Amino acid sequence: MQPSRGLFGLLTVLLLVLVAFALLSSGGQGQRVQLAEFETLYRNGDIRENSVEIRENAIMGIQRAQGEGERDRQVSVPINAATREEFAARIVELTGGKVSSRPTSQWMPVLLTFGPFLLIVLLIWYFISRSLRSAGGGAGMLGSFGKSRHRTLSKEMTGVTFKDVAGIEEAKDEVSEIIEFLKNPKKFTRIGGRIPRGVLLTGDPGCGKTLLAKAIAGEADVPFFSISGSDFVEMFVGVGASRVRDLFKQAKESAPCIIFLDEIDAVGRRRGGGFSSGGHDEREQTLNAILVEMDGFGSADGVIVIAATNRPDVLDPALIRPGRFDRQIAVPLPDVKGRLEILKVHAKKVRLGPNVDMERTARGTPMFSGADLAAIINEAAISATLGNKEFIEQEDLEEARDKVKFGRAKRSRVREKDENKLVAYHEAGHAVLQVLLPDSDPLHKVTIIPRGAAGGATFSLPEKDRMGYGLKWLLATMRVCCGGRIAEEKAMGDVSSGASQDISQVTQIARAMILEWGMSEKLGFVRYSGSDTKEAFVHERDFSDGTARIIDEEIRRIVDEAYADARRMLEEHWTQVAGVAEALLRYETLTAAEVERVMAGQQLDKPTVADLLKSEADKVRSERKTPRDGHDESPDTPPGALPSPA
Ligand code: ADP
Ligand code: ZN
Repeated sequence: MQPSRGLFGLLTVLLLVLVAFALLSSGGQGQRVQLAEFETLYRNGDIRENSVEIRENAIMGIQRAQGEGERDRQVSVPINAATREEFAARIVELTGGKVSSRPTSQWMPVLLTFGPFLLIVLLIWYFISRSLRSAGGGAGMLGSFGKSRHRTLSKEMTGVTFKDVAGIEEAKDEVSEIIEFLKNPKKFTRIGGRIPRGVLLTGDPGCGKTLLAKAIAGEADVPFFSISGSDFVEMFVGVGASRVRDLFKQAKESAPCIIFLDEIDAVGRRRGGGFSSGGHDEREQTLNAILVEMDGFGSADGVIVIAATNRPDVLDPALIRPGRFDRQIAVPLPDVKGRLEILKVHAKKVRLGPNVDMERTARGTPMFSGADLAAIINEAAISATLGNKEFIEQEDLEEARDKVKFGRAKRSRVREKDENKLVAYHEAGHAVLQVLLPDSDPLHKVTIIPRGAAGGATFSLPEKDRMGYGLKWLLATMRVCCGGRIAEEKAMGDVSSGASQDISQVTQIARAMILEWGMSEKLGFVRYSGSDTKEAFVHERDFSDGTARIIDEEIRRIVDEAYADARRMLEEHWTQVAGVAEALLRYETLTAAEVERVMAGQQLDKPTVADLLKSEADKVRSERKTPRDGHDESPDTPPGALPSPA
């Protein structure tokens, strides 16, 4: 089929070139003038002799330059079939026969008339045959369009085994029977059990869905076909569907094997609902093709389809019906133990120093995905290399952790003194409240070194991974969030945009408390946020306007109470806030213990940033060696820090 495609392309290009050529050479160039004007010019001697030429549809001549700095230019008198004879005669007479004429080509006029038409016909033909083919018929001359682009990975290429997948033991357990089946399909069909044809892996991005699917293929030693949902969604109608058919055909030929459909939600969204502009039919066709193909093969075929998504709630119900993706396996964010194992898996590839404490790192990375953890190890290795170290140290890991989550620390950014003071008071406001409020997470460290978009950060050290949130913790956290803005205002007499992150966090908590968690007495044990499929364009609301007003009032009340409470506490402890802020200006980073000492009115005996800078400068002068980065942070800060309000 390949030649027909090439031929078609060649034909189109040829035609385009010819049409363009014909149009260009058709005498449209130069200054267009009337015949009478041309005659006058010639008689005045403005037209070069022997330059006059009668062409297919124009009389051409070259006009002399009109003065200094100008150039000769072409003038043309358009002619057509009706005027041709007459004009030609007049020109011959005018020039006394000193005129050349180009032979009239036979095909040019034909091409000019029919070329564009032919082009349009060809284009229409192209599109029709393309969509015809995808609709199931007409796989004739243009059969090669839409051949699926998926990559085939043999076992050697995946090479992934269960050893590479850590921290998701339950998911691994659940897929073990699939591996068993792939290894020996016959065994299962003999007794007559039904092995799922489709498995849906659900979980946040980076949790290892692709990795798990590859590991299944690797463990069972079968080929792995993969294609992503967004690959299906093409501009032209029907290509997605034909890709699906093609993929399944190839897969069946090399069964037993695994087909991996990544981002299935890109094509498998609920049909109908919501507004979607272009590409809607295309999606539907692709989805239908997947469903048809999945119905079309039996367990004996030995093909397992694994799909992955992070939005199982938006999937079309038809996809999860029995016989299709009826087995759902969750690939969740790892817990502390899981994180430790994932870190260990990735740490095998790097060299670790003796002071590395993976357990602390695992504890300090709640809500990190497997991909984040892999990135931490990688970043740490890079920074250790840049620091000319032999191996990764704990401080590299901590720096990498912060970098992965919040972006690189901007040590080089020079800040105005005032801005520094503002950030110091802001963070001191957070930190003091965090120490004062027993229900909040314990403080870990506070810093005014900017990182990412944040000017500084106050980190807390959660004792455990949080599955749910208690009311006391929520209230305390809201107060901690408010502290930054309040301290800023009190110290500087001005407020800044630096609190935007805090504001959104407070609002989010207050909204969830009321709408989802039933924590408002006025509104009671009721869910108000509706179904959050986010599909419907117009958000339907199943409560009255009156209720809506009460909801707004309640959110406002909860936030206002937190704010007033935080203000009262900060005012009561203002000397302590000021002490912490001043210490921050001097030391940049304080650990929890240091904050507590400052709050108790004690002096810190560690060198200030100014001292450090001075000694670094001395060292550079004596050693002529660049100082190592990360020196001014206390070296023993464990990485177990959760950022709380920045
Ligand atoms: P998903 O498909 O869920 O978005 P991936 O499978 O593509 O995530 O994971 C991306 C990378 O993160 C993997 O290549 C791997 O290096 C790392 N990773 C994620 N989860 C794990 C895990 N459970 N164990 C080991 N590495 C993991
Ligand atoms: Zn803040």
